[in-house]
Amino acid sequence: MTADVLVLNRSYFAISVTSWQRALCLLYADRAAALDAEYRSYDFQDWVDLSNAIAENPSGFVHAPAFKIAIPEVIVLKAFDRVPKREVPFTRRNIYHHYGCRCCYCGKRFPSTDLNLDHIVPRSRGGRNDWMNTVTSCIPCNLRKGDRLPEEAGMRLVIPPSRPAPDSGVVFILRSPVPIRRSWQRFIDSVYWNVPLEEE
Ligand SMILES: [Zn+2]
Repeated sequence: MTADVLVLNRSYFAISVTSWQRALCLLYADRAAALDAEYRSYDFQDWVDLSNAIAENPSGFVHAPAFKIAIPEVIVLKAFDRVPKREVPFTRRNIYHHYGCRCCYCGKRFPSTDLNLDHIVPRSRGGRNDWMNTVTSCIPCNLRKGDRLPEEAGMRLVIPPSRPAPDSGVVFILRSPVPIRRSWQRFIDSVYWNVPLEEE
C-alpha cells in the first residue's frame, strides 16, 4: 500500500504529507483525529467503529485480528498550532509551475521540456536571479530575445513577473512530488515542491 495521508494542523492548515503507517500511529496515540469524506473528525475508537461499518474506502483498510481500520486520507493534529513557513523555494520546477508552464513572452503553454528560464534583465547586465527577474520562456522566444532587454528585442511580457504570494491562497510545499488527492484540495490552493534544483 502506498496511500499518503495529508496532515493538517489544529487550525486545518495543510502542513505535510505522511505515510499511512505514521498517520495511524498518530491516530492511535490520540495525537491526531481522522477526517471522513465530509470532513468530520473522529478519534481512534470512533474511527474504528466507522471503519467496521463501511465496505469501501478510497485508501483501503488495514486488517487486525479483531477489527479493520480504514486508512484516512486526511488527519488533523490535536496539539500542533504552528503554520509552517510558506516561502516557495526558487527552483526551476516551481517557476514553471508558478507560470502554469506558459511562456511569459507569447503566453502559450508548452511541455516543460520546451521551456527555458529567462532573466528579463540578462545576468550579464547585472540582472538578479530571483522571482521578479526570472520568467518562463519558450525556446523560440528565448532565442529571439537573446542577451537583450525585452524592449531592445521588440518584445513584451504578456505575463508579468511575480512571486508566489502565500497570502493569496494556501500555498503548500511538498518535499517530493506526490499525487494530490481530491480530498486534499479544499485545504490547498497551490502546490510547490521543496526539491533542490540539482535533483530536478
Ligand atoms: Zn514564447
